[in-house]
Amino acid sequence: YYEVKIVPVTLEENNERYIVILHDITNERMLENVRKEFISNVSHELRTPLTSIHGYAEALLEDDLSNREIVRKFLKIIESESARMTRLINDLLDLEKLESGNSQFIFEEINFTEVLEHVRHIIEPLAEDYGVEVEFTYPDKLLLIGDKDRLIQMVLNLVDNAIKYTSLKEKGEKIVKVDAYKEGNNIVVQVKDTGVGIPEEAQKRLFERFYRVDKARSRKLGGTGLGLSIVKTIVEHHKGTIEFFSKEGVGTTFKITLPINKEEKLNETI
Ligand code: ADP
Repeated sequence: YYEVKIVPVTLEENNERYIVILHDITNERMLENVRKEFISNVSHELRTPLTSIHGYAEALLEDDLSNREIVRKFLKIIESESARMTRLINDLLDLEKLESGNSQFIFEEINFTEVLEHVRHIIEPLAEDYGVEVEFTYPDKLLLIGDKDRLIQMVLNLVDNAIKYTSLKEKGEKIVKVDAYKEGNNIVVQVKDTGVGIPEEAQKRLFERFYRVDKARSRKLGGTGLGLSIVKTIVEHHKGTIEFFSKEGVGTTFKITLPINKEEKLNETI
């Protein structure tokens, strides 16, 4: 995209010339489009739960409230939809902070094993609710320089997805395996599930904000479409890499490689 400016220059009478100034505005235009799309996505995502909250509240107000079961059911929907809105806003603020550079990472020497133990505790009741078995394998010590809370969030998002998308499978074993090990100067963590998998055509777009293979399905699982964007941003702040392999109907494996690499990152503000 170019912005064109034409400036007439009169050198002498009857001899008018023009200077054409071309200003390359491709970047600005692209940023503007990204911003517009983002706002439209956010509005849409917020409007969906709001519409449902409004609808059910209205129905309750018009009802004589004599059927306790229905009242409970509607209140439950209102509660879970408002919880989803809160999650969405928290995820958005988190992502904004991570990406704008306003968030200070606290890099210190940590034992990555403790990250996994923490995730294991949080995830246990969820796994049980969803009827999925989760198996962790890691050594006692996996030292690395990193931000512990962010790393917990990173693994948690992956395991949370793995459990939920595995629970959707109708038959076959439902197991999620989380492995971590040291490989050269890196710590590798893999989250392997036996879930529904990701169709090939969707794989390129997986880390985009709000991208979901199936919006209705993700919503039902309480998803916001921001989880993987957050994971990717945290990985990048640790100068690591993320990749995945997936086959529809068979399962998905996410693999994150983080450099142990302390000196470079100690107390760095990003
Ligand atoms: P969501 O909140 O919808 O889970 P994410 O950003 O975490 O959003 O993931 C984006 C999309 O990627 C999901 O909606 C889902 O379609 C797909 N996805 C992520 N993890 C898995 C997985 N382990 N198995 C199958 N699909 C997955």
